[in-house]
Amino acid sequence: MDKIKMTTPLVEMDGDEMTRIIWKLIKDILILPYVDLKTEYYDLGLEHRNETDDKVTFDSAYATKEYGVAVKCATITPNADRVKEYNLKEMWKSPNGTIRAILDGTVFRAPIIVKGITPYIPTWTKPITIARHAYGDVYKNTEMQVPDGSKCELVCTDRDGNEVRQLIHDFDGSSGIIQGLHNIDKSIESFARCCFNYALDTKQDIWFATKDTISKKYDHRFKDIFAEIFEKEYKDKFAAAGIEYFYTLIDDAVARVVRSEGGYIWACKNYDGDVMSDMVATAYGSLAMMTSVLVSPDGTYEYEAAHGTVQRHYYKHLKGEETSTNSVATLFAWTGALRKRGELDGLNDLCTFADKLEAATISTIEDGIMTGDLYLLSKLENKRKVNTEEFLLAVNERLAASL
Ligand code: NAP
Ligand code: MG
Repeated sequence: MDKIKMTTPLVEMDGDEMTRIIWKLIKDILILPYVDLKTEYYDLGLEHRNETDDKVTFDSAYATKEYGVAVKCATITPNADRVKEYNLKEMWKSPNGTIRAILDGTVFRAPIIVKGITPYIPTWTKPITIARHAYGDVYKNTEMQVPDGSKCELVCTDRDGNEVRQLIHDFDGSSGIIQGLHNIDKSIESFARCCFNYALDTKQDIWFATKDTISKKYDHRFKDIFAEIFEKEYKDKFAAAGIEYFYTLIDDAVARVVRSEGGYIWACKNYDGDVMSDMVATAYGSLAMMTSVLVSPDGTYEYEAAHGTVQRHYYKHLKGEETSTNSVATLFAWTGALRKRGELDGLNDLCTFADKLEAATISTIEDGIMTGDLYLLSKLENKRKVNTEEFLLAVNERLAASL
């Protein structure tokens, strides 16, 4: 069989620890035998980031801007322990943070659903994709503890030096706390466009919710910006695609989400997205089955798994012990990126290959062959726990049969 040809390279960002081992296995077993893979390779493994003073991370993000599609392996975000372990020159920043800042993107996280693993909310038969706004609010706040007797005000000074003041609180009788938050229209606008584009891309409805009834200026601004951009730029496209934009209050959204069957994108303000993405991931069963894609408003895509480098399994692997690490989310990062590359370049056989590889992965698990994390969760009767590599080989048997 001829290998499937590619025209434009994928930006490939390699990573760390157990996911780096899985990365190579996925390529060797499931991709290279079938695809004449073209990638522009960036080694974001911590050692190479350290050697290049983290320049490689920046270069990989600029390459993503140029080519439009990237696939990323999980990477270590260094802390004090890692600085010692890897003898680092500096405590380099989170690569995901650096890439996100350069691409100005929004992260969409969606679970992969398989038979035998029932979500804690059993009516959730379709995935709920969470889109988290990644700028401002409480993550860039200014806060103080204030003593009794303090008068606290919001002061805004414009370019000409004019001041507007508003009382926050007169602390009379008790000490207390205050907090200043901000967001910028430009970032909210990009967030809205990323969300609407991704909804069109994946043909799913999109929900957005804030607390605009209480926060009549701050949260209301989010609601208004979404509404304006939707009316002007997306209403017709949504109608043509048969999908909806639905806005409601955050408390109403939470209630509806719990009662829903899934199958939509839930756009969240920064804090809501932080909290709700953990809730949704847990409810679907396993972080190892959660995919993640960073989408920028100008339409670049970076695919990855939502989990980290699975350090504990890597240390076992280094000791020569057998591991049973779940490769599904990393595998779906590859299929997501290959399919998107195929769509952008008009390569149908590349898209079909990605579809078949995903189908082979799901049917492997539904046939009862799975890694230890899923083995603990699955309600299938004939389930069997396999090691990291055996799982990928079982996927390959099904893939080869379907091509
Ligand atoms: P983690 O790598 O997600 O792993 C936490 C635990 O979750 C694992 O020990 C394992 O549990 C389970 N798990 C996660 N993924 C799994 C998989 N694919 N298969 C089976 N089990 C899986 O999080 P962490 O240990 O907190 O972080 C490790 C490193 O990853 C850190 O250096 C962190 O900076 C980095 N990180 C990177 C990213 C990213 O690049 N996007 C995201 C998060 C964290 P058991 O040990 O109980 O089996
Ligand atoms: Mg969180």
